[in-house]
Amino acid sequence: MKEQFKRFCESLKKQEDINLIRDTKAVAIGVKNFKFPNEKDEKLAWERLETHCSFCNFNILEPIEELRVTDTRIPDLTNRTCGDCGCVLSYKLRQSVKKCSKWEQ
Ligand code: SF4
Repeated sequence: MKEQFKRFCESLKKQEDINLIRDTKAVAIGVKNFKFPNEKDEKLAWERLETHCSFCNFNILEPIEELRVTDTRIPDLTNRTCGDCGCVLSYKLRQSVKKCSKWEQ
C-alpha cells in the first residue's frame, strides 16, 4: 500500500490541474489515514463529526452500495457520504488537505 501511495503521488506531480491535484491528494490522504490510523487524525475526525457533520443535512447514506465504507473506529461514519462534495465521510474527516468550510464556523 505504501509503495502504491508513493507511485500515486509521483503520478500526481505530472498533473497540471491544481484543483484536480488537490482533490485527488485529499482523497488519497483520507484513505491512507483511514487504512493506517494515527492519533491526531482520528481525534480530528471525531471532533469534526461531533461538532459539525452529525448535525449537517449533507451527511447522507451513501446511495451506491458498492461505495459504502464500514468504519469500526467511528461507527457513526459507517456508510455515510457528504452529499455536498460526494466524499466518503470516513475519508474526508481524516484529512486536512481540503477542509469543509463548515468546519471553520
Ligand atoms: S463535510 Fe461539511 S458539508 Fe459534508 S457533511 Fe460534514 S459538515 Fe456537512
